[in-house]
Amino acid sequence: MSQIVETLINLGLGKPAELKRATTPFQGTVLLGSGPNPGCMNALSLFCQQHGLAVAAPDNASGEISKTLEAAKIWAHGDDAPGEKLQALVFDGTGISTTAELSLAYEFFQPALKSVARSGRLLIVSRPHRDQSDPERAACQRALEGLARSLAKESGKKGITAQTLCVEDGAEENLTGPLTFLLSHKSAYVNAQVFRVSEATATSAAIDTQPLAGKTALVTGASRGIGAAIASTLARDGAKIIGLDVEPMRADLETLMQKLGGEALVADITADGTPGQLLELAKTKGGFDIVVHNAGITRDKTLANMPKHWWDMTLEINLGAALRINKALLEANAINEGGRIIGVSSMNGIAGQRGQSNYAASKAGVIGYVEQMAPQLKDRGITVNAVAPGFIETAMTAAIPTMTREVGRRLNSLSQGGQPEDVAETIAFFANPASQGITGNVIRVCGQSWLGA
Ligand code: NAD
Repeated sequence: MSQIVETLINLGLGKPAELKRATTPFQGTVLLGSGPNPGCMNALSLFCQQHGLAVAAPDNASGEISKTLEAAKIWAHGDDAPGEKLQALVFDGTGISTTAELSLAYEFFQPALKSVARSGRLLIVSRPHRDQSDPERAACQRALEGLARSLAKESGKKGITAQTLCVEDGAEENLTGPLTFLLSHKSAYVNAQVFRVSEATATSAAIDTQPLAGKTALVTGASRGIGAAIASTLARDGAKIIGLDVEPMRADLETLMQKLGGEALVADITADGTPGQLLELAKTKGGFDIVVHNAGITRDKTLANMPKHWWDMTLEINLGAALRINKALLEANAINEGGRIIGVSSMNGIAGQRGQSNYAASKAGVIGYVEQMAPQLKDRGITVNAVAPGFIETAMTAAIPTMTREVGRRLNSLSQGGQPEDVAETIAFFANPASQGITGNVIRVCGQSWLGA
């Protein structure tokens, strides 16, 4: 069936799945399986053990998933059937090297998929295919990503998401951060992504409550929408917030910062003096630990009709200003070791968008910056990542005409728009000290949007 037909069917369908979010605890049984010589099984089992998740693993002798499920009283059919459902299927495919061995992934997922609970999780662990010397092994590792993306498309109607955790050799110690996020409801609207985990200079155990205690976080564009959600979520996790926004947003910014026990900074990020002002502020705080460049605008017109100042303004606010601020802070060592620089890109920065050449160029620029800077800052223990939101319900998207907005909401595997908190939770995951191995990642928060996928 073509994607257009699928789209129309999707639009004709009723209510999308109600996604469970951060406030719902992630509890129950995880089915854990693997191919030959799995590299991450120890880390995976340990994580489940430490986080109170029961593990069902197929008996090595028979290897039969259906018998394992039967023994664990897991129900395969009907949402309302009594008995337990699986919360997650986790498959360690890191050792798969031949096409024949890929069938082990089929044998793991096929009998178990109908037993996964609503808002459950599918996770495939792989190795970076480009790091492999054997071509068949490289192909197999990349094949696992294709499998995860397809499972995401097949399971989205139940709010189930599927991801690939791509673990570099030697980075097995750094799985706690990504697993804490992925095996939780905080990742509700993140779907079909590849999380690349690298070796890190220092690792840190995940702390469930207040992992950001003692950290100072600068959030730009913090007065409303996604920025307000980021500030609130980082504050929930224990960070001291400095929220920045422009003069017209002063009242909203001050109200929010008061509520969060944070500090309001009224400034325009594009003003000449702002990088210097932020540097002075950072010095008084003993440096910043987390810098989130969220402030952004759209000025939409096809390029042929676009006035030059719309181009300049969008590129400056969405890209140029953030780069200048980072440069000033980094040159003066005002971002601490273990620091986090987090950009906000966009799905349209990946796919391009009619009428948004300025916006898409600026948001693609954010991706280029993250990918170039991550290796440069590794030795300083600073990670650089970005989120790329899809359709998120904010003032920005409320301004879109109704029909276009409804289509925008529905064009993803979860058939709905995301909430600002979905973007904020992904940023909190990047900020978490246990995510030290996550750098150079651009994670879409788009429900597996069909644009640019
Ligand atoms: P929003 O318009 O509600 O908030 C943006 C904030 O940035 C506002 O408070 C605004 O005052 C502030 N800002 C703008 N220019 C500034 C400047 N020069 N200096 C300081 N602050 C400035 O938008 P939102 O929907 O919450 O989007 C937040 C970010 O997420 C933006 O970067 C946007 O491009 C990105 N994004 C949003 C969506 C979506 O669906 N809403 C999708 C993809 C990406």
